[in-house]
Amino acid sequence: MVPQTAVRVNVCVFGSGPAAAISAWMARQATSSVLWVGGEWGGLLRPFRHGCATFNPFPVFPVRESPVYHRLGLHQYAADASDVQAHEWGDWRDKADATWLPKSLLAYQAAQGAGRGMARSLKLFGPKAGERPLPLVQAKFTAHYGPERPQWTRVGYVKGLSVYTHWMLGTSSRPDIHGAVSRLDLPRRVLSIGDVDIAYDLLIACVPLPDLLKVAGMVPQLAFDSGEARFSVFCAAEFTVANHLLYDDRSDSPFYRVFVPLEQYVIVQFAAGRTPESVDYTRLWEKFGVRMANWVADLHVPTAYPLGPDGAAIETTRSDLRALGVVLCGRLAEWRYIDLHEVDWGAIRAAVEH
Ligand SMILES: Cc1cc2nc3c(=O)[nH]c(=O)nc-3n(C[C@H](O)[C@H](O)[C@H](O)COP(=O)(O)OP(=O)(O)OC[C@H]3O[C@@H](n4cnc5c(N)ncnc54)[C@H](O)[C@@H]3O)c2cc1C
Repeated sequence: MVPQTAVRVNVCVFGSGPAAAISAWMARQATSSVLWVGGEWGGLLRPFRHGCATFNPFPVFPVRESPVYHRLGLHQYAADASDVQAHEWGDWRDKADATWLPKSLLAYQAAQGAGRGMARSLKLFGPKAGERPLPLVQAKFTAHYGPERPQWTRVGYVKGLSVYTHWMLGTSSRPDIHGAVSRLDLPRRVLSIGDVDIAYDLLIACVPLPDLLKVAGMVPQLAFDSGEARFSVFCAAEFTVANHLLYDDRSDSPFYRVFVPLEQYVIVQFAAGRTPESVDYTRLWEKFGVRMANWVADLHVPTAYPLGPDGAAIETTRSDLRALGVVLCGRLAEWRYIDLHEVDWGAIRAAVEH
């Protein structure tokens, strides 16, 4: 039997996506005793390769005005970037007479006069958006589409890659120990990976919350529910302009949005419940002025949009974990519908310094 090696650190970071990379970087600003453990590098920002091209198929764009943009020095990696140009296509008003349950996301958005937001909710979540309360996504939709929304500028792809990916590559952000975490003993504050036991004071967990609870042997008292995002990648015979994001708000269209990370690659994100097989693309290629596009791959992100459980139950879980020395970080770890610039990085840094 291989003997277990024991390691002691102040901060252990668990995860391998951008939230883990940023957490590890920030923790190291405050203490030298940091160990980062995780699986396959990059999370949703792992680059996709096709022929000689490398690009990020998911549009994860930093917000220029956000504290994280300045704190990480993302401007150094965004020198060549243009801001994302978002366009609407189609008319959302054909859903203005939709019926929905009180306290549903749609009712909430209607009360704010956020018609376009409603159209997008339907595209993203399908009938779920109107059939039941969705408290976890309300905040994000208010921030993004409500009347008081901030004027953000999102920084687009640089040579096909998200600025966050450039930052991760530029800072050589990699987990110190690579592999699957086999056990997490929360009361003893010990995480086991391979034959290493890591004793920590603070664990920054950047993996989906249901997975964290599972590896900790906790039976969740919550029924987790999440949405999914489906994409198809196409290589066009002609060039299109990168950094354009096109939202198709027409309710009966199968497309949610379309974007171009590199001049020749078009990524289609489908509306809820629509699959690539049954779709007529003619309207899309006409809109883009592209005559022919070859299918490259279908991609599926199964847990992109956490929908449940309700806000109060998740708050209790977060504070129970906090009492055990665990801070959650990232959309799926916090189980909140947020972007990276909306993570409370100040609180995470304070927890490390404490
Ligand atoms: C279509 C789309 C568009 C988006 N646009 C934006 C945007 O513009 N701006 C933005 O900030 N965010 C955006 N997001 C959200 C984006 O996913 C996150 O902000 C970002 O990827 C979060 O990073 P993360 O590290 O928390 O999660 P992820 O990137 O999902 O990484 C999670 C990591 O955890 C690992 N993991 C999963 N399960 C386990 C397990 N059981 N054990 C160990 N490791 C595990 C995975 O391998 C992965 O490496 C978008 C998401 C989608 C789907």
